[in-house]
Amino acid sequence: MSPSNEPSFRQSVDLMFTRAVALMDLPPGLEEKIRVCNATYTVRFGVRLRGEVKTFTGYRSVHSEHMEPVKGGIRFSMGVNQDEVEALAALMTYKCALVETPFGGSKGGLCIDPREYDAEELEKITRRFAYELCKRDLINPAQNVPAPDMGTGEREMAWIADQYRRMNTTDINAAACVTGKPPHAGGIAGRVEATGRGVQYALQAYFRYPEDVAKSGLTGTLDGKRVIVQGLGNVGYHAAKFLSDEDGCLITGVIERDGAVTNEAGLDIDALHAHIRETGGVKDFPGGEFVSHGAHVLENPCDILIPAALEGVINLDNAARISAPLIIEAANGPVTAGADEILRKKGTVIIPDMYANAGGVTVSYFEWVKNLSHIRFGRMQRRQEEASHVLLLDELKRLSADSQLNWQLSDGFTKKYLKGAGELELVRSGLDDTMRGAYDSMREVWHSRNDVEDLRVAAYLVSIARVATSYQSKAL
Ligand code: NAD
Repeated sequence: MSPSNEPSFRQSVDLMFTRAVALMDLPPGLEEKIRVCNATYTVRFGVRLRGEVKTFTGYRSVHSEHMEPVKGGIRFSMGVNQDEVEALAALMTYKCALVETPFGGSKGGLCIDPREYDAEELEKITRRFAYELCKRDLINPAQNVPAPDMGTGEREMAWIADQYRRMNTTDINAAACVTGKPPHAGGIAGRVEATGRGVQYALQAYFRYPEDVAKSGLTGTLDGKRVIVQGLGNVGYHAAKFLSDEDGCLITGVIERDGAVTNEAGLDIDALHAHIRETGGVKDFPGGEFVSHGAHVLENPCDILIPAALEGVINLDNAARISAPLIIEAANGPVTAGADEILRKKGTVIIPDMYANAGGVTVSYFEWVKNLSHIRFGRMQRRQEEASHVLLLDELKRLSADSQLNWQLSDGFTKKYLKGAGELELVRSGLDDTMRGAYDSMREVWHSRNDVEDLRVAAYLVSIARVATSYQSKAL
């Protein structure tokens, strides 16, 4: 957590916004309109549990309605408060603009430690919270569409969708009221992995440009890069898994709530993930060395640092000691405004949260479109695509036989080429395309303007310009 002399999370986001907007020439007053959070609803509700009524506090904040519905996750954590939810809602506005998902920004949270309740109790609490939000159209396919965030996942989203459906029995688009649902409840293939997958695609996009890689002092490709990850939850686990399994990265450290585990030869991420699920922490994991003060491992030498747990973990206290030359913000707001300045002066490259973790909202967008169109992606064209590939291969074989060239297509090629794209392949392709496109839009600003030092300001400039453009055609 940040030391007390640092601005709050929301103020930190505001400071970063202000630094960027100072480089823009917006119409008078528009800067303030974009910056402020439009509304925050606070709800306190009671749930009868274990023989008593327990009161919970929840929030849903709407930062910007320049596009509707507004979008943003629901977090279950004891750290949830109005300031945090408003900061996260603002980040959602900029994130959606950057990756061109047609949403405004929102966020919600419930002040709860989900580990203290069993599934039945959590369902009761989640449904009750959803009821409060649905009643006020703060969950609605056309107005406000939540998604998972820290402490929530597919299960909670399925309960929320069902609760909305019970309250809106004739809404044919009910499934689109929330994203991140499991496949049997209207979800989409690839949503669970989406944010971590997006982190991988973001790093791949960065490493595609040697001149960008050089800015961090690194060279080459992702292969062999030493990576430290904080938080092996949904985002951190998938990012670590894909980077190690598919890109040849070595995950040399994982920091969790109870400490950290390190191994310079690379940790077995699936084994560690299973260990955390079984024991609740990283302690006693046989494949690495345990460090009881986990946060110190953020400072260990590595090539890439991936904070994927919570905000404010890189702050005025430790920024000067962070040795990673490249940080990718898989979590929202892991680097405070003060730490950002220190790191920038050191030459550390930061791939900012609003871009780095946008994979979740991107695939949520695909899920929302799927729910509104009431058909799975790929259902109409998959077999047709396969049939036209068969036609082409048959023709190639015939030509090869007729001309006596006797070409042989390799088995692997034929198998791969003949397979039409299903929903998962299409989702990954759409996500990859989005992450590449958004990276290119940021780097263009980064490289073309002398007054833009870093990717964060570049990301804000792209996003704010897009939000400003959409305000121009709105009645205010
Ligand atoms: P999660 O609850 O699945 O995982 C969080 C992980 O962090 C857990 O393993 C937890 O034990 C660990 N953790 C908590 N406190 C910690 C601490 N002090 N030190 C080390 N580890 C700690 O949450 P998530 O969905 O993976 O979200 C993580 C971050 O990513 C959040 O900032 C969230 O806003 C952001 N994010 C999530 C999504 C998504 O689709 N889930 C999308 C965009 C951004």
